[in-house]
Amino acid sequence: MALLHAIVLLGLLSQHAPSCSAATDTVSPGNGLAGSSSSSSRLVSNNSKFALGFFKMGDSKSFNYTNPYTYLGIWFHKVPKLTPLWSANGESPVIDPTSPELSIAGDGNLVILDQATRSIIWSTHANTTTNDTVAVLQNDGNLVLRSSSDIFWQSFDYPTDTFFAGAKIGWNKVTGLNRRLVSRKNLIDQAPGLYTAELQRNGVGHLLWNSTVEIGNTGEWNGQYFSLAPEMIGNSDRLTSFDYVNNDKEVYFTWILHNETVIVLSQLDVSGQGVVSMWMDDSQDWVIIYRQPVLQCDVYATCGPFTVCNENQDPVCNCMEGFSISSPRDWELGDRRDGCTRNTPLLRCGIDGSSNTDLTDKFHSVQRVRLPNDAMKMKAARSEDDCSQVCLVNCSCTAYSYGKGGCSVWHGKLTNVKLQSDGNGEMLYIRLAATEVPRVERKHRNAIGIGAAIGASAAALGLMILGLLVWWRKGKWFARTQLGDVQGGIGVLTFRYVDLERATKKFSEKLGGGSFGSVFKGYLSDSFTLAVKRLDGARQGEKQFRAEVSSVGIIRHINLVKLVGFCCEADQRLLVYEYMPNHSLEVHLFKASGTVLNWNLRFQIAIGVARGLAYLHTGCRDCIIHCDIKPENILLDESFVPKIADFGMAKILGREFSHAMTTMRGTIGYLAPEWISGAPVTSKVDVYSYGMVLFEIVSGSRNSSQEYFEDGDYSAFFPMQVARKLLSGDIGSLVDADLHGKANLDEVERVCKVACWCIQDSEFDRPTMTKVVQFLEGLSELDMPPVPRLLKAITGGSPESLTSV
Ligand code: ADP
Ligand code: MG
Repeated sequence: MALLHAIVLLGLLSQHAPSCSAATDTVSPGNGLAGSSSSSSRLVSNNSKFALGFFKMGDSKSFNYTNPYTYLGIWFHKVPKLTPLWSANGESPVIDPTSPELSIAGDGNLVILDQATRSIIWSTHANTTTNDTVAVLQNDGNLVLRSSSDIFWQSFDYPTDTFFAGAKIGWNKVTGLNRRLVSRKNLIDQAPGLYTAELQRNGVGHLLWNSTVEIGNTGEWNGQYFSLAPEMIGNSDRLTSFDYVNNDKEVYFTWILHNETVIVLSQLDVSGQGVVSMWMDDSQDWVIIYRQPVLQCDVYATCGPFTVCNENQDPVCNCMEGFSISSPRDWELGDRRDGCTRNTPLLRCGIDGSSNTDLTDKFHSVQRVRLPNDAMKMKAARSEDDCSQVCLVNCSCTAYSYGKGGCSVWHGKLTNVKLQSDGNGEMLYIRLAATEVPRVERKHRNAIGIGAAIGASAAALGLMILGLLVWWRKGKWFARTQLGDVQGGIGVLTFRYVDLERATKKFSEKLGGGSFGSVFKGYLSDSFTLAVKRLDGARQGEKQFRAEVSSVGIIRHINLVKLVGFCCEADQRLLVYEYMPNHSLEVHLFKASGTVLNWNLRFQIAIGVARGLAYLHTGCRDCIIHCDIKPENILLDESFVPKIADFGMAKILGREFSHAMTTMRGTIGYLAPEWISGAPVTSKVDVYSYGMVLFEIVSGSRNSSQEYFEDGDYSAFFPMQVARKLLSGDIGSLVDADLHGKANLDEVERVCKVACWCIQDSEFDRPTMTKVVQFLEGLSELDMPPVPRLLKAITGGSPESLTSV
């Protein structure tokens, strides 16, 4: 009997021992995977990008805690720092000293077995219709259980905390399958954690805490991006892009990585932040390129109850005074759901009426904080004393605050308290046992000296900014070396408000202002100057902000101003650009403070702006219409290279919707007639405005200048003069007198002809910007333009077409 047993066992072993050949991407019946660390005990996708196998988290180097758990999971094959992307059995780990094995069970399911007892630890639990199945680790990182004809199960349907490129987050409306991201319990435990990111059936993305409390949403998909998350539009180098589908069968969101040589990781981390990182071969580490929410303290309950989150400290989570960390192990591993607990219990209720006031619970004040969630308003309490009393007499009351909104009290746990550095915080009084208060206050007195020293230290900011610059440079370097010829950085940066406030010296040097806010000069270092645009009003500038981030944020061109980053904190909306030292074209054309631009510069500026617009209209994936082209929005760099700025009015139109816009935008004097008539507009509205700017470049005066309209005689309207003089041949007289006749008349004529074509009434008669570039460069010849009807109407000019003369 024993012999028989041994033979059977031997047979089993030989059947299930992993093959020793080079890594394969398939588990098939009889070819399992053992839970050892040898290279033969893992699958590797055909493209060598992903690996699947058993792993253990938590090595003694990084953590003080080890973990007896073994998981089956997927990671990047070429990233030496173990980063699980998916795990099968987070909730049912293999526990030491069991040694596991992955194999195809008799019913065709993929299972993890206890090698000793042959009991099943985990299974795909699919409705397999055959036992002739294989599990394949595909090139996209998806582990698929299939037969020759069917797919029975795939890991992409059961994501953990990582959003794989090409995977879907969202609903299969037919089967009811909901694919969502769930954060992990802590840094070494793959069990599900507290935060969930999912699309709801209505297609809006939601972030949930504890599966129940909604703590953020993305707004609706508008065809390009989620309305409340414009920065998710993909980045400037088109390294990544997003896709969204909502039809009868499914609603989902996915992303695409356009460069297979880079390793990008998109995860919902333990603390509830969505983080996108890139693997840097050079430093052998992950570099974060995007984080949402930008500040950890803005993640709901990120530090747990009875804590104060302080973004300017590392670590950001700290216990409130009088409290200590509940579970140091969990806390250190990033799982702070238990937060902090009282050092000394509160007085038992019923004794608080005691005449011995020394025994009564006391309040300890915390200044400048964002108040905890779930306040109860106490209208009856009309003074701070009343308010404190209301709290004190209620056994479960743990804190109160008396401020702008009157008296608020809290019961039970206090969550979401954050230190506010922007002066918007309020005073919170936390209830402590009487014996605890003097201890806390003594500690405080000692700490004040240190606090002041740190507060006064500007070095901290310096360091932070230095870090930012190094990062930024690294980004550029990275873009050059690893992304080949892609222009610019790897994306836009997110800034903290406090840092922009300091960089702009509290918004003291104003560069300009318009309808939606003001632009200030800022300094990151001696050699790096910024222009920071602060949008006015809590929500007023919201549309403009989103328009700018989502248009200029995703594109790069020498003739478009570069968006370095933005800040989106509470009500603050700021955009950060590279600084343009030579102001706007408006200053040089119309203002005494400007310099007279020679003809050559003017001509180069005209071509540059045309190239920038041509790129906007046709060069990017979708057509972007600027909608507010005018000299104020054309900036000049140190060499007078023009850069189109101010995308607050811009409209991104998917190629299929080129006629989708009717609400009026722009500036009188540069507005195409279709704006006024209310007809749908296209990129030709920019061509019209550009034409108007060309006239101004030639004349050095506003087209709308009063001198043209004296005595109600509009025949002097500059564009009309141009139209006429193109015929009579007296082009020279049109040029800005400040140039004293020094201009290349051939070029002047070309510019004038192009301008007249650009302002034709019918958009179909206007050239595209690509054509304009060719005309100006002399690559195409131009016919004589007809006088635009509108010009004729306002000038009362004769009806003849110039071409017919
Ligand atoms: P608005 O929507 O208020 O018109 P703009 O982006 O057009 O905002 O900026 C207003 C003015 O601020 C510009 O006309 C220009 O004078 C100045 N300005 C804007 N961006 C920059 C920059 N990057 N460098 C220098 N000056 C700038
Ligand atoms: Mg402007």
